[in-house]
Amino acid sequence: MSQPINVPNSRGHFGPFGGKFVPETVMSALQELERVYAAARRDRRFRAQLRTLLTQYAGRPTPLYYAARLSKTLGSGIKVYLKREDLLHTGAHKINNTLGQGLLAVRMGKKRLIAETGAGQHGVATATTAALLGLDCEIFMGEEDMRRQALNVVRMRLLGARIHPVTTGTKTLKDATSEAIRDWVTTVRHSHYCIGSVVGPHPYPMLVRDFQSVIGQEARRQILAAEKRLPDFLVACVGGGSNAMGLFYPFRNDERVAFIGVEAGGFGLKPGHHAATLAKGQPGVLHGAFSMLLQDSFGQVCVTESISAGLDYPGVGPEHAYYQLIRRASYVTVQDKEALDAAAFLARTEGILPALEPAHAVAHLRRMPSKIKRGAVIILCLSGRGDKDVETIARHLS
Ligand SMILES: *Cc1c(COP(=O)(O)O)cnc(C)c1O
Repeated sequence: MSQPINVPNSRGHFGPFGGKFVPETVMSALQELERVYAAARRDRRFRAQLRTLLTQYAGRPTPLYYAARLSKTLGSGIKVYLKREDLLHTGAHKINNTLGQGLLAVRMGKKRLIAETGAGQHGVATATTAALLGLDCEIFMGEEDMRRQALNVVRMRLLGARIHPVTTGTKTLKDATSEAIRDWVTTVRHSHYCIGSVVGPHPYPMLVRDFQSVIGQEARRQILAAEKRLPDFLVACVGGGSNAMGLFYPFRNDERVAFIGVEAGGFGLKPGHHAATLAKGQPGVLHGAFSMLLQDSFGQVCVTESISAGLDYPGVGPEHAYYQLIRRASYVTVQDKEALDAAAFLARTEGILPALEPAHAVAHLRRMPSKIKRGAVIILCLSGRGDKDVETIARHLS
């Protein structure tokens, strides 16, 4: 890497990836969003308003915690810092993005937020933001996910959101996303579609990345204060890729800082057994963008499988596909069982019960010592807490 990374271009392209592949009726809404976002990011009042919500409501800045006992178990003088997004209001990094998009919706005069959700974390964050800003909220969620994440369904309803059960396809996140897009096509005039990760048509991958970049901006400041140097590795789990990109992005031109994204290996790397899009996918179009995608030889989107609903998605953000292409980041996979072990391991060594999504990153961390230099400094994004997964973890460990 020699030239500074500067993507997307004005048409939303990250190298060959990204763009806008949407029905005509949505085009003008995307253009409006681009225009309003461009003005908002230059507007001191908008930025101050978002900063106030992030600090006073969501609980930023989150600590960059030096995990001494965890580091000791790895040996070789390796130091691990955990970026504690799990301590945010609603329990995960999703709120960084929904607060930003909620304020944009208000700025556009839109009174209704719609969103898709898999694990329910993005649905809860969107419903929370809607309640806070006095907006209507409707959430699309696969029936299968509603069953797996019943507690989050109750939380969303308590927050005043209406849930639309999605019964098509595999009744999971990809189908919920298709349904949300279908709704948006007919309601764009008064509805804002609040996408939960760095996916979808331009400008969403850029906009969600920017809102999540607060993770990396803080981490950069915090590690320089703690270690007087930049880290050697950043490690984060990748579903759509927003917590990972939020951490990576502010370090993108620090050539010595290596990025590792960890995908869900499910119960093996055979088709249908995993959600390892970058490891096993092919280029293709899904949900409005050209990116890597799990598809069969006919171009049909594959069924995915992961113990963590938040990683159970056949697509990935176009910026990750680009980082993989130019080798700015590397992507690895971790299977369900390793993630479960890692969750229990982190709970016992540090008293922190992670969500199963970042438990994938913790599992990869445990493999790293044999491959890296002594005394390496690693920042791991702990994207969410494990409360939502306690039942799943308990069931599998018993
Ligand atoms: C949603 C979620 C993820 C996956 O989404 P990304 O966009 O890849 O970050 C990861 N961790 C947690 C805790 C989540 O809720």
